Amino acid sequence: MKKIRKTNSIFSITPFTLLDYPDKLACIVWFAGCNMRCIYCYNPDIVLGKGRLSAPDVITFLHSRRLLLDGVVLSGGECTMHKDIIPLVAEIKRMGFSVKLDTNGSMPGVLKKLLDAQLIDAIALDFKALPGNYEMVTGADLFRPFAESLSLLIQSDIPFEVRTTLHSDLISVDYFQQMMSYLQSKHYKGDYFIQQFRNNVPVLGQLNYSLPEFDASRFSTSEIRVLVR
Ligand code: SF4
Repeated sequence: MKKIRKTNSIFSITPFTLLDYPDKLACIVWFAGCNMRCIYCYNPDIVLGKGRLSAPDVITFLHSRRLLLDGVVLSGGECTMHKDIIPLVAEIKRMGFSVKLDTNGSMPGVLKKLLDAQLIDAIALDFKALPGNYEMVTGADLFRPFAESLSLLIQSDIPFEVRTTLHSDLISVDYFQQMMSYLQSKHYKGDYFIQQFRNNVPVLGQLNYSLPEFDASRFSTSEIRVLVR
């Protein structure tokens, strides 16, 4: 196994959550930094901030929670861009925890290694926008790697969900229909979570007040269940 380095790549740990990993008592490990700059990002501190904890610090924390938790959520920022991620996940799995990955899908090579090694139990993949305005929404020209990650996950048998943040200035009814069509064209089957943008919280970019414009759940099909949360 690759040695875990002592680089401070982790911003913080949320010691307990019942919300972020379905059916698990979990903690959340927040990785510092991100290769995107989404206008609506709720975590500017984490995206722009420096890590304070290392992977060995996470392992030490998990040793103290062995009998209390059964899952670990790896989030951020973007956890897959960190060199520590594969040996860290391997160690977390070796300790007996289930692992859920929250990712923007920009690192399909890392994702493939994690999937091939059977180190991940669940994934939430952000579907931020279609190619034409992906860079405007995310500040990064990374639609192609995202699409590659989506294909990888569709071909795998790992449980995963797709999720989109809905801001009324960014996603109209027509645009949402096009995002659904894109998922259908890729033969995605499963849950599609829509997160309504939360107004009045600090975000990375400048956005107007988001109006609750339409009920995305009515776009559910026999293969894609749209759930609003
Ligand atoms: S919302 Fe965008 S900028 Fe924020 S952590 Fe996720 S991918 Fe990075």
